Amino acid sequence: MKSYKVDILAFGAHPDDVECAISGAIVKHIAMGKKVAIVDLTVGEMGTYGSAEMRIQEATKAAEILGISHREQLGLKDGAIKNDESSRIKIIESIRKYQPEIILSNAIHDRHPDHANTAKLVNDANFLSGLKNIKTSLHGKPQNKWRSEFVYNYVQDFFIEPDFVIDITDVMARKIESILAYKSQFKDPNNTNPNSISGLIDQIKSTNSIYGRQINTKFAEGFTVNKYIGVRDFFQLD
Ligand SMILES: [Zn+2]
Repeated sequence: MKSYKVDILAFGAHPDDVECAISGAIVKHIAMGKKVAIVDLTVGEMGTYGSAEMRIQEATKAAEILGISHREQLGLKDGAIKNDESSRIKIIESIRKYQPEIILSNAIHDRHPDHANTAKLVNDANFLSGLKNIKTSLHGKPQNKWRSEFVYNYVQDFFIEPDFVIDITDVMARKIESILAYKSQFKDPNNTNPNSISGLIDQIKSTNSIYGRQINTKFAEGFTVNKYIGVRDFFQLD
């Protein structure tokens, strides 16, 4: 059977969450030879601009820019993400399909309610995915249990004090290129209001520069953890 195994699986409530928040860290890890998949829970059909088909095309284009191994949309309802059993099963199926060492997921607190709901949903599903008595299948074949040891929640819109940050200075241009793939979302490229593309990129650069400042670099992306970070020795940190 075809292997979908990746090193990192990034979940996003909406297509473009992953690009806006952490495409820099993803590009860095792909350059290190790591395989990355993205699973969008919805197609973002409640967005003000662009159709669902357009958003899927844009998500595919952004994945090509980043060098993603696989990307798919689960078809959950945009604006109504719930931590219920049927949604958890869909996430468990994805975790068992891609068997990641590390899972990345939305912010634990954010402006869009789908983000924090996704954070809790993915955390709970990852635990349950390790229980063999929860049965799922892929293409008619039973899936093996799988639990990732690490789930990192990325900071996106609202500011959150991160537990660690990753330097993305060298890949900032590629991050912006991947965000620009979502051109249907931005009606007026020259408008500087916060909902325009240039306004959004300014906001992302500001957040990433605040995190970068703390590690003496230009740009960084922030993450929170749900358990302590263990360090092998004093010399493993920047
Ligand atoms: Zn979102």
